[in-house]
Amino acid sequence: MSAEEVQYRMRDVKHIILVLSGKGGVGKSTCALQLATSLSLVGLKVGILDIDVCGPSLPTITGTTNADILQTSEGWNPVKVTDNLSVMSIGYLLGDRNDPVVWRGPRKSGMVAQFLSMTHFGPLDYLIIDTPPGTSDEHMAVVQALSTARPDGCVLVSTPQEVATLDVRKEISFARKTGIATLGFIENMSGFACPDCSHVTYIFGHGGGEALAHEAGVPFLGRVPLDPELAEAEETGAMFLMEHPGSSTAVTWRGIAEAM
Ligand code: ADP
Repeated sequence: MSAEEVQYRMRDVKHIILVLSGKGGVGKSTCALQLATSLSLVGLKVGILDIDVCGPSLPTITGTTNADILQTSEGWNPVKVTDNLSVMSIGYLLGDRNDPVVWRGPRKSGMVAQFLSMTHFGPLDYLIIDTPPGTSDEHMAVVQALSTARPDGCVLVSTPQEVATLDVRKEISFARKTGIATLGFIENMSGFACPDCSHVTYIFGHGGGEALAHEAGVPFLGRVPLDPELAEAEETGAMFLMEHPGSSTAVTWRGIAEAM
């Protein structure tokens, strides 16, 4: 699978954005989905490619776990979530979705490159790539495979607790070393949004993400609170931004997508 093949596949994709995080469980897939949905709701054609080989969660949070991937002469057809939003995830291709994926590096990297070159999204305004946590073989594979398609950059996601750790700094330095522009930093699970009055309580402090972004010379895109409505929507596969368009968390996601 060569970078040229990937470039050919990406010929009708206007913007490619990677979503990165130092750790799992900080809301990387959530960011990928909510940002992609925000963009799709303003009429843009958006695709999400979930290459989190070890924990693909896009099928669950988009309510498409039972979707089958059709292979046509054009390649693998992604799953249409709405008219403007389609998703391709390694999760769709696993036989038993409860099975852990225990592939070794080269096989995972091969799968990533194959995904990029085989998935037929068609013309897209944005392709959002949800990567596994950390900076591993799959990240190198995606950077290499995209080298000639040239992604616009990456968005980094972290929680307030993680801001001070080395993981986030490693992500920033990974982006730098691989020549990928950092479009911005999102502090997720930043405080708790009361479901009754929307008041946000900053349980783990507040301001660390913005300070880190400033120190690293990276744009700070915003902070998203822990919101039970968002957690529930994703657990049930409901589209949060469509179900709760007026909530302050929904407004925050749309603002971040606009600023990205
Ligand atoms: P990652 O991709 O980093 O592993 P996920 O996006 O899968 O993380 O999020 C982990 C869990 O936290 C999911 O159940 C998700 O619905 C939930 N979650 C993420 N961000 C928020 C948030 N801001 N408010 C409430 N729940 C959230």
